[in-house]
Amino acid sequence: MQNKDCVQIKCCRLCNSKNLKKVVDLGKTPLANAYSKVKISKKLKRYPLGLKYCFNCGHLQLTHSIKPSKMFSNYLYKTNTSKKNFLHFKKYADEIKKKYKSNGGKILDIASNDGTFLNFFEEKKYFRLGIDPAKNLKRLSKKKGIIQIDNFFTKRESDKIKKRYGDFDIITANHVCAHVENLSDFFSGVQNLLKKDGLFIFEISYRASVLKKNTFDTIYHEHLDYHALYPICKFVKKFNLNVINFKTPDAQGGSLRVYASKNKNIRIQKNIKKQILKEKKTLNLFKTVTYKKFEKKIADCKYKLHSIIQNCKKNHMNFAGYGAAAKTTTFLNYFDISEKDIKFIFDDNKLKHGLCIPGTKINILNPSVLDRKKINVLIIFAWNYADIIIKKNKKFQKKGGKFLIPFPKPKLL
Ligand SMILES: [Zn+2]
Repeated sequence: MQNKDCVQIKCCRLCNSKNLKKVVDLGKTPLANAYSKVKISKKLKRYPLGLKYCFNCGHLQLTHSIKPSKMFSNYLYKTNTSKKNFLHFKKYADEIKKKYKSNGGKILDIASNDGTFLNFFEEKKYFRLGIDPAKNLKRLSKKKGIIQIDNFFTKRESDKIKKRYGDFDIITANHVCAHVENLSDFFSGVQNLLKKDGLFIFEISYRASVLKKNTFDTIYHEHLDYHALYPICKFVKKFNLNVINFKTPDAQGGSLRVYASKNKNIRIQKNIKKQILKEKKTLNLFKTVTYKKFEKKIADCKYKLHSIIQNCKKNHMNFAGYGAAAKTTTFLNYFDISEKDIKFIFDDNKLKHGLCIPGTKINILNPSVLDRKKINVLIIFAWNYADIIIKKNKKFQKKGGKFLIPFPKPKLL
């Protein structure tokens, strides 16, 4: 029986083709952000998690999609939680201001979170509008003087925005496309609100980085898509948009930033063709054997990590983790790591303290108590912040504590 909260993806999210094949299977996991008290955490509902490849356009997507309202109504992730992320968005905003809109203008940020990104655009020069379904983040944006609509961005919502605020010079959408239930509707909304010579800039997680670094934990129900440049270039054409430039920033473990415009006269950067050729010929992103190899690499990583944990346990060493991000849920559930293996997980986000990693009884604690706990090994689940975490916990290492980095292969430091 098909559960209505969970629907199998039968048509490609980009090209609508039914020519899809499952290429990666990660079993069943709870929703990655369903942090809850210890009593209910293990009883959380589990949903199938896997990847399907589209033979028509080369897109890679989840096997199942979950009703968005189950996932995003009370989001515990805030953009400015980490300094690294903050700096990434600052640099990104500075580039837009300098290169594309130095005289000011109207900017819309889709999935504006707590307004961190929009706040880099000076209130005096820019009209700033945010939209985000997380009601608890609206007041944080308001404090920064940013108008934020608390809803999902759709074509219908874009009509309402257009009526009230007109169209926009810049539209940004960072790490949100993969969360969107209906991508075509979303892009129609963008097309509707973008000025003729406006620019739509969006950042998405880059499939090439996931495969290279073996970071399978970035696969969870909120991330429906695993993008590559080639399928995206074809997709945006349907909305009268042209990809004019791209970048591959290191943010979120490896991203693809795409610059798209309606203006056919803008010169298209030559490096786009080169990157597409690389995706086809060098990275083999459009061959299914690549994903079979990826699955094997994940299995090897699981085996290696378990053997490290078992060996250390024989020597009476205690484990804890660092970083209770959404990806930690996929990691622990797919790797069958439970409270028997890991005592706690430390995380800087106060909103998560006292809750458990979904599907486990592993408690999330404030790092300020790390000193008082008898921990020998800290597994860094927030691997994209490994350098910062290690630097911050020099004292732990001086006392003989070890760090374990899981990717690309588990390694004790
Ligand atoms: Zn497709």
